[in-house]
Amino acid sequence: MGKVLDLALHPLELRAALKLKFIRQPLFSTNDTRATPQLERCYELLNLTSRSFAAVIMELHPELRNVIMVFYLILRALDTVEDDMTIDPQLKVKVLREFDSKLDTTDWSFDGNDLKEKDRVVLTEFPCILGEYHKLKPEYQKVIKRITGLMGNGMADYILDENFNLNGVQTVTDYDKYCHYVAGLVGDGLTELIVLAGFGSDDLYHGKNSFQLYESMGLFLQKTNIIRDYAEDLDDGRSFWPKEIWSEYATKLTDFRDPKNTQKGVDCINHLVLNALTHVIDVLTYLSSIHEQSSFQFCAIPQVMAIATLAKVFNNPEVLRKNVKIRKGTTCDLILNSRTLKGCVDIFQYYLRDMKQRLPVEDPNYLKFNIQVAKIEQFIEEMFQDNLPAGVEPRETMIYLKVQERLKWDTQVIPRVQEEDYKFNMALSVVFCVLLSFYFFTK
Ligand code: MG
Repeated sequence: MGKVLDLALHPLELRAALKLKFIRQPLFSTNDTRATPQLERCYELLNLTSRSFAAVIMELHPELRNVIMVFYLILRALDTVEDDMTIDPQLKVKVLREFDSKLDTTDWSFDGNDLKEKDRVVLTEFPCILGEYHKLKPEYQKVIKRITGLMGNGMADYILDENFNLNGVQTVTDYDKYCHYVAGLVGDGLTELIVLAGFGSDDLYHGKNSFQLYESMGLFLQKTNIIRDYAEDLDDGRSFWPKEIWSEYATKLTDFRDPKNTQKGVDCINHLVLNALTHVIDVLTYLSSIHEQSSFQFCAIPQVMAIATLAKVFNNPEVLRKNVKIRKGTTCDLILNSRTLKGCVDIFQYYLRDMKQRLPVEDPNYLKFNIQVAKIEQFIEEMFQDNLPAGVEPRETMIYLKVQERLKWDTQVIPRVQEEDYKFNMALSVVFCVLLSFYFFTK
């Protein structure tokens, strides 16, 4: 009921939700996801573990759809072993370290998870995933295996790291390193897959700054989740906020839960948001380098949702007590409007300006925050250079040229969006006429 009321109170979001559900057509047919019972079962497993990921993966170009579905399920299986506290640590470390070698088999499965673990089915039915994995092109298999190996070993290292387990994340460098293992590596694998498929410019994976770019894609998402999940993580007896930052505001991380420390807690949240914003320029650069439309949307949707979530947690004391979320209708709106690079940049700009406006002048990081937002605004100006005085030619910088290239792809999306608007307005008029005639005839 809450969701329905939310939508009714936000008519633009209601419009977006209806458009997404009834009007928008997927870019590619999804019939081939039911080609064999084994493949169909893999997609069912994907749906069981994450409905939202399943939805975005289904939208992908057929060249990459099965690849990313299999990649996701393998990493989900790895994470289900890592997260299960009922598994003996020694066994867990062994399974995690050997996980990539299991990809060479056809029948490996694992039945050691707690029976209450809802994702355990991914491990008990692992041969089904292996079957599809072996059907992928060898170059795709190689990427998946490489990332699985790195992530499994990274997870095992953290389980054995007593200092981490006892005291949590210490420095900002440790924070970045932790996020690298849980999210940066995913960015690495996905980027290599996108470039191998020929869906992004070659320098996205092989350029001299590429590591920083795809690392930022993962870190921006992960840091947003870590800030948002403070209350939930603390309830589970853990936290990933780095001590180097929170110790400026409290002596113990749990201090923020005490209402008399709320202001300190909010200052700390804003500091963490500032830290996450250092990745935004990389994120926008990365998105400018993707050409194929479904891969662009696949990468862009989580990023625009992250900036909307950051704005939601920013300066928000509720984060200290519960898990705050963006509205469902906002998500629909973000999905529809992030299909072009310009649309994504507008979303980022909207939320950055919103945060800047709400930043209290007493905030300890007031100046630094304003400088960071200004840096991003300056970068966006350079990306498009569409406000130049008459007669002044744009400077052909690296990002400007990249954006020009991406805009060619954007122009192919615009007619599609206009057609949806037209169809939606027609449908709305029909519904309105039917209601009106019903009213007059029954009066
Ligand atoms: Mg985990």
